[in-house]
Amino acid sequence: MELLVKHARLLNRKGLYQIAVHEGKIASIQEEEAGSITDVGDRVYSPEHLEQVIDAEGLLLLPPYVESHIHLDAVLTAGEPRWNESGTLFEGIQIWSERKPFLTEEDIRQRALLALQWLAGQGVLHVRTHVDICDPQLTALKSLLALKNEVSSWVNVQIVAFPQMGICSYPNGAELLEEALKLGADAAGAIPHYEFTREDGVQSLHILFELAQKYDKLIDVHCDEIDDEQSRFVEVLAALAYRTGLKERVTASHTTAMHSYSNAYVSKLMNLLKLSEINFVANPLVNTHLQGRFDPYPKRRGMTRIKELLGAGLNVSLGTDCIIDPWYPLGNGNMLQVANMALHVGHMTGNQEIPLGVHMVTEGGARSLNIMEGYGIEVGKPANFIIADGQDPWELIRRMPVTRHVVYRGKRIASTNPSETALYIGETSQSIDLRNPFIRSS
Ligand SMILES: [Zn+2]
Repeated sequence: MELLVKHARLLNRKGLYQIAVHEGKIASIQEEEAGSITDVGDRVYSPEHLEQVIDAEGLLLLPPYVESHIHLDAVLTAGEPRWNESGTLFEGIQIWSERKPFLTEEDIRQRALLALQWLAGQGVLHVRTHVDICDPQLTALKSLLALKNEVSSWVNVQIVAFPQMGICSYPNGAELLEEALKLGADAAGAIPHYEFTREDGVQSLHILFELAQKYDKLIDVHCDEIDDEQSRFVEVLAALAYRTGLKERVTASHTTAMHSYSNAYVSKLMNLLKLSEINFVANPLVNTHLQGRFDPYPKRRGMTRIKELLGAGLNVSLGTDCIIDPWYPLGNGNMLQVANMALHVGHMTGNQEIPLGVHMVTEGGARSLNIMEGYGIEVGKPANFIIADGQDPWELIRRMPVTRHVVYRGKRIASTNPSETALYIGETSQSIDLRNPFIRSS
């Protein structure tokens, strides 16, 4: 036994549990006897065989957060060479193309490594990054492929070959995508709404599916990330996913135009989406910031229809998208902040809806990344889990607390102490707990 976690609360279960880890996998999950929790671990496992014991103190133990959509090649470049003053996607793409000539493998490695450390320290242990492959040298891809290897003992990185300037509209776009897949990208991407014409967009998706099938790769498309209600590539993507049978291996990222579609069209579209079984990734921080920029008042929120997609039984997960880059000057890798924003913008604050925020940054993300086989708190699965500084999903969404402990493949890779506040009111100072847990009656 290499690790024992005591006094952990589990999602959707009453009582407290202890989780034992052996050879990097979850070896047992046992309920502790009510009222006598202190020594249960020692009775079951003799201390001399334990390398490490973590006291979860009644906090929630859950599988790691999943970052479903980020651009690690661009993180921490905001302001280089200039700031995005319009706040639009298109100015962001323009600034990025000015920064790209100065990219080196080491420049990318250092920034991406720092962002991954921020993520892992907060309990994000599965990360899907897009990497811009509209570069004849494929510098960013080569850098991130090497980094993925370098960090593999503490975080799982998935790489999407992302043609930022298009497959049909950028010179040798299809060849670069194919080369990226040969070099080892895990998934193939596209950006149909950014291609020169509607026909180019459709064609780019056909090329994408051919290449993904040829090299047996996942698919994740930047799809309809625009406020134009005429941008309808998600129907093409879903139809191709359905006809090829690739289905849940396909993800539609952003789909912000769906926010602006007529309800009549969405009603027809939903039937196809259900048949296709594709995944959706929303990026609520960045899309509420980028979308609606051309609107007078009222300004559209620009986030895809998460509530309706979930209601139709489709998988939805969430991404940060950007951390301090030409598209977004903020971001810190806290997936609970992303979830909190999604629930606000999506009007999903009903009692049963709030826990969906945590679902979308955990299991929902694992489904998008196609890693469910090794994901979850079950005996026999890899011992990847986190202990949040809260007792239930409502508390996690409300306070967006730190992650107390992060465990990857049975090893603790990070711990964070919650902050303490001293209050100087009246004659003496007192220490108060701003975590202020609210114990729910049901
Ligand atoms: Zn993106």
